[in-house]
Amino acid sequence: MKPVPSQNLNQDQFNLVAAAIAALDTTYNPYSGYSVGAAVRTQTGKVFSASNVENAAYGSTICAERMAIGKANSHRERHIVALAVSSRPDIPNKRHDTAAPCGSCRQVIYEMSQVSRCDIEIILSDADKTRVFLTTIEELLPFAFGPKQLQIDISKFR
Ligand SMILES: [Zn+2]
Repeated sequence: MKPVPSQNLNQDQFNLVAAAIAALDTTYNPYSGYSVGAAVRTQTGKVFSASNVENAAYGSTICAERMAIGKANSHRERHIVALAVSSRPDIPNKRHDTAAPCGSCRQVIYEMSQVSRCDIEIILSDADKTRVFLTTIEELLPFAFGPKQLQIDISKFR
């Protein structure tokens, strides 16, 4: 995956990345010092953002991406069309790679793509937008497992 110049983003993409970057300041990360902000845009044009929320029981930590999806869901906004993720390590002198969604988040994003019936666009960005990548959930999680494999009808959740 090659980075794209941030000036090539369209207005919707730029706004979504800005919301993800703004969410970095709300992170609760006493254990890793690693900040992640995420923002989703729904078909109605609404944007919901969130950050990672860590926990002393590490497995109870919730990623920014899933927090943002949950926030949209709590507003009955499940038709997600795009998601931006931004990351910023708060640890000095550490090399920083642009963060991509973890495996659990990819699975949850895929589920939402089945609800919205679209391949959700994913924008990855550093906090200063020096490295931006454009991808989709189908690219990040090919041959995914979802409601179809279980023959579950999710249409009532659309
Ligand atoms: Zn995750």
